[in-house]
Amino acid sequence: MAQKVTIVSREEWGAAAPKQKASPLKGPAQRVFIHHTALPKCTGLKECKERLVSIQRGHMTDRSFDDIGYNFIVGGDGTVFEGRGWGVVGAHTKYNNDDSLGIAFMGNFNNDTPSTEALSSAKQLLQDGVAQGFISPEFALLGHRDKGQTDCPGAKLYAALPQLKGSK
Ligand SMILES: [Zn+2]
Repeated sequence: MAQKVTIVSREEWGAAAPKQKASPLKGPAQRVFIHHTALPKCTGLKECKERLVSIQRGHMTDRSFDDIGYNFIVGGDGTVFEGRGWGVVGAHTKYNNDDSLGIAFMGNFNNDTPSTEALSSAKQLLQDGVAQGFISPEFALLGHRDKGQTDCPGAKLYAALPQLKGSK
């Protein structure tokens, strides 16, 4: 089935090449972890692209990842950006990456509320992933805090997770 949500490709946002190719997932993702970037939210394509380049640099340099850790990143205006993309292992939820995908919302949702646009895009992205066989239809939707010592994805976004799995 066709992808319904538009994804800004790595080329479009100016991603650096990964240090090495990501490992493929062994099958459809069984779990999806939601994160926040815990950075100020970005406004507009130009600012979000710059923020992504900086996040990728931080992941590859300070944290020694091979690439930006997330599979996808969602901006506050609902724009979806390609991270590692579909079907590959990310670096987002320690000890839990091998059967999962990681999607990060740009912003800090300890106090801020995620936008309707961002929630709606993430929901569509999940539906697209299931429709294309990248995510198991019975996938579990979790927040990073379910498996790590972290506030991520922030209380307000964590509370909104059930909205991402509704039938409509
Ligand atoms: Zn996280």
